[in-house]
Amino acid sequence: MNDCIFCKIIEGVIPVKKKIFEDDMVFAFEDINPQAPVHILIIPKKHISGLDSVKREDIEILGHIQIVAAKIAEDMNLKEGYRLLTNNGIDAGQTVAHLHYHLLGGRTFAWPPG
Ligand code: AMP
Ligand code: ZN
Repeated sequence: MNDCIFCKIIEGVIPVKKKIFEDDMVFAFEDINPQAPVHILIIPKKHISGLDSVKREDIEILGHIQIVAAKIAEDMNLKEGYRLLTNNGIDAGQTVAHLHYHLLGGRTFAWPPG
């Protein structure tokens, strides 16, 4: 049995605070612990445990996620900018083993990140 929390969100077994977008390839929803005024997670419907597990055949999914992110940012009027990132592995702070991209906006972000 797949006990992945994000797969359960996709299946509707675990509810989300707010669904932002869904199509046949991706699902986007508000992060439960927002780190910025806008903090959305964009995930592929296919279970991929992280960026280091993507395969050549996933190229359309990865490209699509970025197109969807840009569209959400536009819809949310993030004209001053936004950040799209994925944490891969322990050092990066990955806590959920289902590939996800954080779309962050609505404030200024530091660089380099902490
Ligand atoms: P990461 O630390 O990059 O693996 O990001 C995992 C993110 O998932 C964190 O920002 C969490 O706040 C978020 N998260 C975990 N569980 C849920 C949930 N049930 N609904 C929404 N966001 C979640
Ligand atoms: Zn999963």
